[in-house]
Amino acid sequence: MQQTDLESRVLSALDEVMDPEIRGLSLVDLGMVERVEVTDGRVRVELIPTYVGCPALGLMKADVEARVAAVPGVEAVTVEFLRKPLWTSDRITPRGRERLKSVGIAPPCGSGPAVHWTPECPYCGSTQVQRENVFGPTSCRSIFYCSACRNPFEAIKPV
Ligand SMILES: [Zn+2]
Repeated sequence: MQQTDLESRVLSALDEVMDPEIRGLSLVDLGMVERVEVTDGRVRVELIPTYVGCPALGLMKADVEARVAAVPGVEAVTVEFLRKPLWTSDRITPRGRERLKSVGIAPPCGSGPAVHWTPECPYCGSTQVQRENVFGPTSCRSIFYCSACRNPFEAIKPV
């Protein structure tokens, strides 16, 4: 059972690795952790990269390696980004969606082509929102403006 213990410690370490672009959202919240294998202290972490074009993967990998390596009982860490399955915004966990809202970012609704999509305002829940700018601060996000509560907000594109 020691291995299971180690596995859960590794998972909680992964839950501390935050998306460098969205504060407060961990890799686990994003649904990026596909598999964790622990064999005699050697840990293999398989991650599904989020949006293509997000420049943060290298940073994330280094962060994952450092945090997992710091878990007592871990002797070696391998981090791999999988090409399949593809990440979709459906993988964001319910807790991840709540966290997104709490920092004023609308979580993606559904998945599919991102051409016609209307997020809910993270502040008041209204769908009376207008797209301000297709390209937000990163290619993953768009800026919207809520007609109901008059707040601008960012929304994650569904993919
Ligand atoms: Zn609103």
